[in-house]
Amino acid sequence: MQEINQYLAQRVKQLRQEKGWSLDQAAKETGVSKAMLGQIERGESSPTVARLWKIASGFHCSLSSLLEPAPTPQQTLKRHADDLRQQPSQGEMLVAPLFSYDPSKGFELFELTLAPAYERISEPHEPGVTEHIVVISGVMELLLDGQWQTLEPGDAVRFAADCEHGYRNPGTVPVVFHDLIHYAR
Ligand code: MN
Repeated sequence: MQEINQYLAQRVKQLRQEKGWSLDQAAKETGVSKAMLGQIERGESSPTVARLWKIASGFHCSLSSLLEPAPTPQQTLKRHADDLRQQPSQGEMLVAPLFSYDPSKGFELFELTLAPAYERISEPHEPGVTEHIVVISGVMELLLDGQWQTLEPGDAVRFAADCEHGYRNPGTVPVVFHDLIHYAR
């Protein structure tokens, strides 16, 4: 946890410097308060997944680039989800960045775990972002076009994520799914 906070702290500071934004400006762009951004930059806060997404959208970067350094392109990469699962904040979904965002590929691939009864409504991602979901285990529901749809293991869904969408676990066991997020840049 500490390590994630430290990487995030350094990354957010770096992004803000690259943009030449004050904390005030960054708060305006991300919708995350100046106080919270200050805490994150000092490594004092574990932001929720929702806040991480706001930061990523505000800075126009991928979610995984906030969690770990970009992989070296053209390098064979083998690792295990068990070693990558992170819980950005208590009670939130578990996030494993299996393949972090690589600009030459344009996508990131997550394994996501939803605790029973967990629900997250996602604000629209940047224009042109597409999500590809494949359910691994458990039964989940996906909010698309204002309607919750039931997805079972093996179900695969691609949708435009630049509009409101959501994920929830209506059951009593965790739901695990893969989410490949493609950025049109
Ligand atoms: Mn999303």
